[in-house]
Amino acid sequence: MTAAVTTAPLFKRVALIGFGLIGGSIARGARVQGLVGEIVTTARSEKTRARVAELGLVDRVVATNVEAVEDADLVILCIPVGACGPVAAEIAAHLKPGAIISDVGSVKGAVVRDMAPHLPDGVHFIPAHPVAGTENSGPDSGFAELFINRWCILTPPDGTDPEATAQLRAFWAALGAKVEIMTPDHHDLVLAITSHLPHLIAYTIVGTADELAQVTESEVIKFSAGGFRDFTRIAASDPTMWRDVFLANKDAVLEMLGTFTEDLSKLTRAIRRGDGEALFDHFTRTRAIRRGIVETGQDSAAPDFGRPHANLAKKGE
Ligand code: NAP
Repeated sequence: MTAAVTTAPLFKRVALIGFGLIGGSIARGARVQGLVGEIVTTARSEKTRARVAELGLVDRVVATNVEAVEDADLVILCIPVGACGPVAAEIAAHLKPGAIISDVGSVKGAVVRDMAPHLPDGVHFIPAHPVAGTENSGPDSGFAELFINRWCILTPPDGTDPEATAQLRAFWAALGAKVEIMTPDHHDLVLAITSHLPHLIAYTIVGTADELAQVTESEVIKFSAGGFRDFTRIAASDPTMWRDVFLANKDAVLEMLGTFTEDLSKLTRAIRRGDGEALFDHFTRTRAIRRGIVETGQDSAAPDFGRPHANLAKKGE
């Protein structure tokens, strides 16, 4: 599926603060779709800024966050959640009146709490979270198609100008995303179960396997196709980003972790008691959830995540 090409730019100047997987994908998508007149970007390190300039994906790479936001109609913070507050404080006085200021952070309550107090009247603060990603990070990891058919959740505070929300919605829709609006708290609860807990489990299980003395590290890797490798993709995600997510969404994650622990105890009991029926019923229910995800286009129906399989050579060949 490809998103429709938009003819007139939606924004004259967009500033992307941070150019990793998400910032880089926004820049690539916006350019392909002709969504903006000019893209100005910056990143924390000179190394990333130099690489972005080399990639030639934006109109200007500048050295500071303050320079980036100058005269921008849309400012998007594409940086770890924990950095959003300090960056908001730094750029606040330099935002153009009437500009939309947004972010892409995986947690919304903490971002609103940390950013909102710094922002001046007369700018439109509309936090956002594109629920799309990979385990890769950095300026080379982005791609224009990342957001196609993925959800982007906007959490405009009460009283936000509907016109500004509609403009940001149109931007994400033109990048291919399906847009939904919810409160920051609800976002954080939903994402705690659909994203944050799965990451915590993956980080745990990969760490546990690594520590098992009876099974050597080489065996863990050698036999990983038994299921382990699917967890390792998630557990390879950026440590800074995920540290910040767990610190910022502590309450919702702890709540979901409580429920998860209870469910794990139920399965543990079923195994201990040899209760095959309980195990079978549970696994039947979870299989249906996988089917639902495929049916709604949130994952491919290809078996084994579409991994290529070698052909078995015919006898005598
Ligand atoms: P990334 O590839 O690691 O890129 C992060 C960017 O932020 C880099 O340009 C980095 O600059 C800059 N940065 C890091 N720390 C900073 C700081 N303290 N101050 C200013 N800039 C800083 O990360 P990403 O995956 O694009 O994630 C960015 C945001 O998107 C995060 O808030 C994350 O929660 C959210 N998100 C991620 C995913 C995902 O799957 N990855 C999905 C949805 C939303 P340098 O390169 O110079 O260090």
